[in-house]
Amino acid sequence: MGSLRNIALFVLTVSALTFIAFFGRLPALRNTPIGFLHRVLWIHIPKSARRLDARLTGGRLSSSGARLSHYLLYEKHPLVIIFFLGLTTASAFLFIRETWSLLSLTDRFLVPPILTAPYAFTYLSNTRSPAITFANHASHQLHYPYDYILYHPNRICRTCHFSKPARSKHCSICGTCIARADHHCIWVNNCLGRGNYKYFLALLLSTAVLLAYGASLAYRVLRPQVRDFQAGWYSRRTLASYGSADGAVATFNHAAIQRINGWLDALSAAVMIGGLSVAGVGLLALLTAPLPAGLLCYHIYLIWAGMTTNESGKWADLRDDMADGMVWVGTRDSAEDSQEVESIEEGSEDGGAEWPLRSTKVVVRTRDGGPPIFAVDDETASGVVNGSWRRCWRLGELDNIYDLGFWDNLQEVLLH
Ligand SMILES: [Zn+2]
Ligand SMILES: [Zn+2]
Repeated sequence: MGSLRNIALFVLTVSALTFIAFFGRLPALRNTPIGFLHRVLWIHIPKSARRLDARLTGGRLSSSGARLSHYLLYEKHPLVIIFFLGLTTASAFLFIRETWSLLSLTDRFLVPPILTAPYAFTYLSNTRSPAITFANHASHQLHYPYDYILYHPNRICRTCHFSKPARSKHCSICGTCIARADHHCIWVNNCLGRGNYKYFLALLLSTAVLLAYGASLAYRVLRPQVRDFQAGWYSRRTLASYGSADGAVATFNHAAIQRINGWLDALSAAVMIGGLSVAGVGLLALLTAPLPAGLLCYHIYLIWAGMTTNESGKWADLRDDMADGMVWVGTRDSAEDSQEVESIEEGSEDGGAEWPLRSTKVVVRTRDGGPPIFAVDDETASGVVNGSWRRCWRLGELDNIYDLGFWDNLQEVLLH
């Protein structure tokens, strides 16, 4: 029982910490206990550790710790890929070596593709680049129009020295602007965007399938052995416990307790029989499967909403600024709009020739909360009829032109 509890506790703790550390910053989790724990983990604990270190060693430890954490978080390194693929390879090797002779013919056919898929999709996510360069900048300008809400034309990237295409974001870790930027993923050591986001989705799906399949194999391999083991075990225990049975305990939820005890006994027996290589790996797979599955569900939600992870953060920020009364919306002049369509056809900087929807609004945030004041030639305000600004309180008043409906969004993501 002890070893089972320790393995389960260890795996659960590692899974929970991994989830909080990497996914706690998602805007959807910002106001939840997970977002709070994420801030504790990344802000409050390091701050207290630095304060303690300043008192104890004059800050020597924290400066080398800062260098290490900067390397781990803000530079490109393959450590997480090595850890993930190393753990997968070692677990699969141990598991298959022990169980191959017990597997059915169908499973022997299924194991190779299911096992190799996450490796292939990690490779594709890592090597396919969504980076915008001078060579492909013009073609990236054609993919999406500016919505004049999250993305405005003629914003120059100070590092890349070109105007940022709509939906792009400069990544300081990759050192380039990223097309339809989703997020920088340390799991695949690359940014995810137009060109490799689909492989990342496939990686999440194939990893979730591998883990669920691994857990189910462990269950199917161990179940008959556990049954045989328990048959002997229960008969011994029942005989021994007859003499000391306590009537008061037996009346309260006896059946439920017995069922839970039965499960724990079975798990405990499975760990004893299967050891680390079968039961341990199976349990690891079972407890970690919700991580890629949950993240995949979140990305399916984003696809449904027509957003990237980056944009979900921008929409959340905009909602917060709206609540503070700092967001103003104007309607774009239709004459200006038709001029824009013409200029897009001529291949101008405005972009988005391939996209079916166009924005009819302009949204700006003002620092003091007052109505916006623009110079006559300001691009952001272009097309807004003078004096038509009004304060915007709700996201519902704005349209997301990058949302074409779930199936079209899915197609857009999977084809590019
Ligand atoms: Zn850039
Ligand atoms: Zn990046």
